[in-house]
Amino acid sequence: MLDLGFEAPKPKVIAGATGDWELVIGMEIHAQVASNAKLFSGASTQVGAEPNSNVAFVDAAMPGMLPVINEFCVEQAVRSGLGLKAQINLRSAFDRKNYFYPDLPQGYQISQLYHPIVGEGEVIVEMSPGVARRVRIERIHLEQDAGKSIHDMDPNMSFVDFNRTGVALMEIVSRPDIRGPEEAAAYVAKLRQILRYLGTCDGNMQNGNLRADVNVSVCRPGDYERYQATQDFGHLGTRCEIKNMNSLRFIQAAIEYEARRQIAILEDGGKVDQETRLYDPDKGETRSMRSKEEAHDYRYFPCPDLLPLEIEQAWVDDIAASMPELPDAKKARFMADFGLTDYDANVLTAELDNAAFFEEVARGRDGKQAANWIINELFGRLNKEGKGITESPLSAAQIGGVLDLIASGEITTKMAKDLFEILWTEGGIPAEVAAKHGMKQVTDTGEIERALDALIAANPEQVEKAKVNAKLAGWFTGQVLKATGGKANPAVVNQMVAQKLGL
Ligand code: ADP
Ligand code: MG
Repeated sequence: MLDLGFEAPKPKVIAGATGDWELVIGMEIHAQVASNAKLFSGASTQVGAEPNSNVAFVDAAMPGMLPVINEFCVEQAVRSGLGLKAQINLRSAFDRKNYFYPDLPQGYQISQLYHPIVGEGEVIVEMSPGVARRVRIERIHLEQDAGKSIHDMDPNMSFVDFNRTGVALMEIVSRPDIRGPEEAAAYVAKLRQILRYLGTCDGNMQNGNLRADVNVSVCRPGDYERYQATQDFGHLGTRCEIKNMNSLRFIQAAIEYEARRQIAILEDGGKVDQETRLYDPDKGETRSMRSKEEAHDYRYFPCPDLLPLEIEQAWVDDIAASMPELPDAKKARFMADFGLTDYDANVLTAELDNAAFFEEVARGRDGKQAANWIINELFGRLNKEGKGITESPLSAAQIGGVLDLIASGEITTKMAKDLFEILWTEGGIPAEVAAKHGMKQVTDTGEIERALDALIAANPEQVEKAKVNAKLAGWFTGQVLKATGGKANPAVVNQMVAQKLGL
């Protein structure tokens, strides 16, 4: 398993006209803190509320209003840090990042530049069984989100909605340890999974609840190893930052495009300008948003309205003591306790609700069989109807009931699939519904024997053939199953056929 060590995946290599190039990627992820109230006010964070209805005086930057830190948001940041095995800084501080924007009424964003609450940590990103990348986390800091400008509601006016103003964000900054587009997507997915397990971010990417700024550069083979050995960024190429990505698919496409764009510039004898770019999904291209020269000078300074944030180790220890089981641990446990394959364990631990459902079905039953039914039958069926596990018409108890009927030999797998369909639409207790529909496997060997004897008597040539070639005995099994209307246990029939034909 992972803690016994893993092999690093190969970096993505792009062959250019002048030789090979490798990719280097670092990410800054903005994750909205799961909290009912904002970072410095008691206003609600509810999405979809009437515009400007969740705005406290301090969010609207009314004169004389002072921010008051929301302890729960701090706790969520600490919990996230612990989930990334990161150092928790008992003393951190807030700074003002100054810039003018209509949706930023304060004229500055309160953030943590110099002393973030969370320091160095890591995310293990598994690319295939036993092959994983350790992506170092540089820091997590807390900051305020901005509001939203609306330019498409009126031909002459712009509107602004301050509901999001002041909502707590965690900015999670990675080291440039990601080496390809798939790894980048897998990193975001893993981080999102961990935060969702922790309950510190909902991770709804479509809503922008979790979004990534993706930094991309290219270098020659060997350069990255030199950077790793020295931590000297001089060994790496100049990076460009692609802002505000909220789709795993687009993140991959944008990195791929951006790397090739940089390679073309370099091979042409040019140099890459450090700049901020935007990805256009319709064109599949990145384009310049602003160059480093145009970059804002934010004039950061410590926020005079807030004292440094001091927390106690005992409080951090309490949070650590209440941590849930995290994805890697759950996956390892599912594989060890239920005999699941790596693939099945990945699927079943991707979301907490799925994992909990599986455990309820698997408890005291054959884990592998439970996994098969949940992944193939249940997920397959839910996907078809566009439903999530929480909307499943079948409960864990009902699926468990079906599995019990198979295990006790009362119904065949074929019957179980029919039973699953009936339960899906009509509901009910599996054993009762099976009885009502006359689903009962024939385990009465007498009935099977009679059917088989009749077949043998009527088909002497078949018997001779099967005696020469044992594979042809399957024909008898098929005929008996047919004769008994699919109610006979195939294993029992097989055994009897072999016995009667003396195979
Ligand atoms: P800034 O403060 O200008 O945003 P940071 O040092 O905080 O710069 O880096 C921002 C992000 O860029 C980090 O995630 C970091 O890992 C990444 N990064 C830095 N250098 C490179 C590089 N050469 N190639 C790719 N990513 C990089
Ligand atoms: Mg930065």
